[in-house]
Amino acid sequence: MLQRQIWILAATVFAFFALTARAEYLPRAERVSDDVYALVGPLGQRSADNDGLNANFGFIVTPAGVILIDSGASRRGAEKIAAAIGKVTDKPVRWVVNTGSQDHRWLGNDYFAGKGAEVIALARTAATQAEYAAQHMEGMKRFLGERMQGTQALPAPKAIAGDSATLELGGETLMLAYTNAHFPGDAWIWLPKRGVLFSGDLVYVDRILGVLPWSSVKNGQRAFQALVQLKPAHIVPGHGRVCDLAQAQRETGDYYDFLTGKVGAAAREMEPLTATLDRYQDMPQFRHLYNYDELHRANMSRAFTEFESQ
Ligand SMILES: [Zn+2]
Repeated sequence: MLQRQIWILAATVFAFFALTARAEYLPRAERVSDDVYALVGPLGQRSADNDGLNANFGFIVTPAGVILIDSGASRRGAEKIAAAIGKVTDKPVRWVVNTGSQDHRWLGNDYFAGKGAEVIALARTAATQAEYAAQHMEGMKRFLGERMQGTQALPAPKAIAGDSATLELGGETLMLAYTNAHFPGDAWIWLPKRGVLFSGDLVYVDRILGVLPWSSVKNGQRAFQALVQLKPAHIVPGHGRVCDLAQAQRETGDYYDFLTGKVGAAAREMEPLTATLDRYQDMPQFRHLYNYDELHRANMSRAFTEFESQ
């Protein structure tokens, strides 16, 4: 009898691993507003199973074709995005607009350009894509291995000058503006007729935002304050589920305020770094956010460095 139970247990464990090992992530379109959809990616790291689609994307169906916001991290990722769009509409992707220069925002550009789409970004976004292209391709190869095959880095060929721009595409109005927070050249896309904001990597919900060596917390706070003025009805964040302004405020805006206010003040007053990090290690209002344990201390440290040098 015991032997039989052990056998059943072993079979169950084996079946569990067999199932989870094959859990490939396929994006699914989620309606945000009429004709506006989000593809909400998983919160974890880039992997062969998610093809680097661990971020959010979106699209707008217009009478003239589809506007895609961000194109995924690889050719295969772009194909998965195209398949998700194909379940909603037969219309072709006519335009791709990039909100940023981090791998998953744009390494699928070449795939959509090959299908006839025009790829558009603000000039600094496109320039940063070109600058980081080799580094991001290498990084993605480490995560995805041979699944990166066929991926070509194509910085947005249509680069728009100026600090902001208004595009009319297929009757839809898109307003682009720099946020320069997570990466230099990051931008958001505001749909004024819909009250929908695609924030790019300015807003993170459900998981804690990441401050990278090239991020600017100061710009993040400033951009978030401008975002509040738009009074968006729906925000498609860079990462995490589609949210309202109140959640974005709690999980991103308040965190930027904390980093600039508390950590920034300590840096400007030349308090010691380690003591500052220790003092703010435990922040109950942000603890529930995914990745808190991995990122919060490093985020504070980078914020400290940014304010120290000013
Ligand atoms: Zn991102």
